Amino acid sequence: MVRETKLYDVLGVSPNATEQELKKAYKTGALKYHPDKNHNNPAAEQKFKEISHAYEILSDSQKRQIYDQYGEAGLEGGAGAGGGMAAEDLFAQFFGGSGLGGGFGGMFGGMNHPRGPAKAKTIHHVHNVSLEDIYRGKVSKLALQRSIICPSCEGRGGKEGAVRKCSGCDGHGMKTMMRQMGPMIQRFQTVCPDCNGEGEIVKDKDRCKRCFGKKTVVDRKVLHVHVDRGVRSGTKIEFRGEGDQAPGILAGDVVFQIEQKPHPRFTRQEDDLIYQAEIDLVTALAGGTIYIEHLDERWLSVDILPGEAIAPGTVKMIRGQGMPAPRHHTFGNMYVKFAVKFPEKNWTDDPLAFEALRKYLPSPEVVNTPPAEAMTEPVDLEDVDANSKGFNGAMEEDDEEHEHPGGERVQCASQ
Ligand SMILES: [Zn+2]
Ligand SMILES: [Zn+2]
Repeated sequence: MVRETKLYDVLGVSPNATEQELKKAYKTGALKYHPDKNHNNPAAEQKFKEISHAYEILSDSQKRQIYDQYGEAGLEGGAGAGGGMAAEDLFAQFFGGSGLGGGFGGMFGGMNHPRGPAKAKTIHHVHNVSLEDIYRGKVSKLALQRSIICPSCEGRGGKEGAVRKCSGCDGHGMKTMMRQMGPMIQRFQTVCPDCNGEGEIVKDKDRCKRCFGKKTVVDRKVLHVHVDRGVRSGTKIEFRGEGDQAPGILAGDVVFQIEQKPHPRFTRQEDDLIYQAEIDLVTALAGGTIYIEHLDERWLSVDILPGEAIAPGTVKMIRGQGMPAPRHHTFGNMYVKFAVKFPEKNWTDDPLAFEALRKYLPSPEVVNTPPAEAMTEPVDLEDVDANSKGFNGAMEEDDEEHEHPGGERVQCASQ
């Protein structure tokens, strides 16, 4: 199921079109609407661009998959962004790279711009790596499926001398046909029916047995991707010329993009690590030891000093226990963000405990006392489900709460 068919419609093919059908549709359309053949015809120029854009996306299996799944919107932030090839470049690469040679350059007369040699498309792969592996560094062995020039026929598609240039189209893959339209004779370009646009003809018996005349075969190649210690997410590692091969063009590149997988204990901020520690109220007040499992099987033991009085949300730093800095022999820091766990309701009913707390904890500041003449009215506190009332979060997020003194703000924020 595809989400939208616009790009297929532009090429006049169905969403299940094969690569060959796409190629053929592009060839036909691009030749028909090429600006060199349609002088002063903005509509044709527009059509030429649309066809090129559609083919550029649909001929790239990764992009096509994204398009089928998410439509054009899916391509905007990702594979489709910025990399858009100009229609003329695509045209030149396509006709230059398909082995059809310079025939078209001469045919249109206006296409003699110098171009770099055509090259197979880059294979992009996101390599997800654990934070542990980034901390220690590793070499990932990644197997890649790629097309290589068929070793049996050396990319000819058949026995030496058996692959002949198609005489129907003189090897161009396209031919000019005439059509009688009433009183007029119309000339038009069409895909050569003799060779199906290939420009070449091989007898079945001479066709290469290994690649079946396709000139390329699928090959499995293992690449060693060095995940350097402390490498940042988004770092790209390039293997030039290790990608797809095709006759008559340069081999493509392979690019791995390192992305760090989310970690259950740590969040990474550049070279620093952030750790959430939950401690008990008694530890926060009276001290204790907490243990932090690091990324290399070490356990850090952290002493919280008695009297430190760690308030909820306090952040402390452990120097040098962050990530290794790439290309330096230094380490970032580890930041520990504390949450303080209070005892359960009715944790004790021992009056001595409360007395001791009153004795040792600082006396409460006396605030918000009513004037002497005011009447005071005793009221009860009842339990509520804070979540169901939307109190959680809303109270902290509401910027206006400072404007409302006392108990009013709770009500205000919950409306
Ligand atoms: Zn072959
Ligand atoms: Zn032909």
